Amino acid sequence: MNSSPFNVEQFPHILVLGMGGTIAGLAPSPEANPLLYQAGQVGVEDLLSQVTKVLPQDLKIISKQVANINSSNLSEAVLTELGKLVNHYLKSSTLIGIVITHGTDTIEETGLFLQTTCGRAAEKLGKRVVLTGAMLPSNAPRADGPANLIAAIHWASTSVDNCPGGIFAVFADKVCMARDLAKRHSSTLNAPLQDSPSSAIGLINPSWLSDVKAKQAALGDDLPIPEALHWPWVEILTSHAGARGEIVMQCLGAGVSGLVIAGTGQGGFNSAWQESIDKAIAAGVAIVRATRTGAGSVRPNIPENDPVGCMAAGSLSAPKARIALQLALNAAKESKVKGGPQQPSWQDYFAKQALF
Ligand code: ASP
Repeated sequence: MNSSPFNVEQFPHILVLGMGGTIAGLAPSPEANPLLYQAGQVGVEDLLSQVTKVLPQDLKIISKQVANINSSNLSEAVLTELGKLVNHYLKSSTLIGIVITHGTDTIEETGLFLQTTCGRAAEKLGKRVVLTGAMLPSNAPRADGPANLIAAIHWASTSVDNCPGGIFAVFADKVCMARDLAKRHSSTLNAPLQDSPSSAIGLINPSWLSDVKAKQAALGDDLPIPEALHWPWVEILTSHAGARGEIVMQCLGAGVSGLVIAGTGQGGFNSAWQESIDKAIAAGVAIVRATRTGAGSVRPNIPENDPVGCMAAGSLSAPKARIALQLALNAAKESKVKGGPQQPSWQDYFAKQALF
């Protein structure tokens, strides 16, 4: 990597956006206890300077710090800022690709958000946006961040036969579509990709590539990015033994626009909720059923017929379904404001994101 200043309008380059997370974390006693640390302490410039020597000498990189947070504190306003930056920079004719360093706790939400708002643009422009992070803080003896950052930069900057542009994620030498990210382990090094359809970076697997293309073809157009303070309010409620309808009624009384049910099994919920869910639907609250199991799809009208106004989350986990529902509600609201003969509903927009 060449760190001398250059004119970004003249030279092809990679943009690295810093969001924080463990990759930018510091542990007070890294040798004794690398898992006791604070996320979001090191700037993205410093993360890059740690890997400069091993990047190709002619590769030009610029960076920008968007946030430096523990991603468990990710806000909708930060997502808005990130999405707008990605959309803006993607259009630059000299930009080759974008890498985003991010905390792993909510990386699946950011992955789904970017896929839904910038995925089609990245695909059309043939550019890759690549999310990465780490499970060990930057000063841990066996920190995984540097290798993940190098691999992500490689994946964003190298052309791979037949592989389209789009929104991807790289961890532990593997790549997946960002919408497939799923952190399903609290501590293993490849946690965010553990159960996601993925491929080894250096050895792209043809069946993975056709899965990527099929999913990209099935997804709808990019949805608008909500303004920072105008995201619809959507909560996730988990169904469980002893569930009580009051919690649904409290959400309804507080004015939510949507509820994602992290249901049992195939997305079912405790019948103690039925009456309050019916009231929520009658009041115009959007309902999506997902599964709390951590894997598999939720299909319409299984295990029971869905009431009108309730959608199945397909392969989206509850946190991803929540982002998709927020973006669908916002898109439907914007279409209504614009007017015109065709005004798709939130269900129309949601259905194009929840693949089975
Ligand atoms: N709590 C951290 C974060 O999401 C975890 C990580 O990055 O792995 O920011």
